[in-house]
Amino acid sequence: MIDQHFLTYGNERIPYQVKPDPRRTTRIAIHVETDGSVIVDVPPGQSKEVVQKAVLKRARWIFDHVAEARDRYRHVRPKSYVSGEQVLYLGRRYMLKVIQDTNSRGTARLRGNRLEVTAQSKDARKVRGILRAWYRTRARDYFARQIDHQSEMLPWLNQPPPFRLLTMSRQWGSCSPQGQVILNPHLVKAPRECIKYVIVHELAHLKHHDHSPEFFDLVSLHAPGWEKPKKLLDQMVEVLASD
Ligand SMILES: [Zn+2]
Repeated sequence: MIDQHFLTYGNERIPYQVKPDPRRTTRIAIHVETDGSVIVDVPPGQSKEVVQKAVLKRARWIFDHVAEARDRYRHVRPKSYVSGEQVLYLGRRYMLKVIQDTNSRGTARLRGNRLEVTAQSKDARKVRGILRAWYRTRARDYFARQIDHQSEMLPWLNQPPPFRLLTMSRQWGSCSPQGQVILNPHLVKAPRECIKYVIVHELAHLKHHDHSPEFFDLVSLHAPGWEKPKKLLDQMVEVLASD
């Protein structure tokens, strides 16, 4: 059971969720998630007043952390698709630059630390469409090369498996029972080690079609330290897979 409440701090109204946690005995714990949502874990049977008091007592801390999380978001996620916003590619930030050219069919290219989008008009939907198409092309290209490379290294593969792109909101990849690898084009925004982990994970499913200990032994052997990139992907799914 999750309960929605609000903390008022200055002019800000910050939503928070109260989650009863049967394992807790006395202490109330407050967390600010990477996306800026606030979760308050409370022992069962705690009165509303006590919870409210505990949240108020840490209002400043909550406010600071929420502001920080929102800020992180703002920088990596284009909102209006205008020059100066930031976009991610292979884990690096690039500054978006939108150039209007009435003769343009719509192109995007990397130039130093900028991603230049040339469009017929500066209409946000148009720029977003061009950007999406660019990510897809880059994703297809980069993933194909990585799958080829990994397939040469992994002893249970004789040749690279077929793969296709599929936009998903909460999943990075999957592997069909027929052996087709499916990858989320948004993954091309993530750091290289994250992409490597997802690809090794999906290729390992061509040997073990489950998440058995044998499967994870195989992943650990070929992508040592994979827990770190996995955690990063879990934390960033909302930022990376939206747009
Ligand atoms: Zn899996």
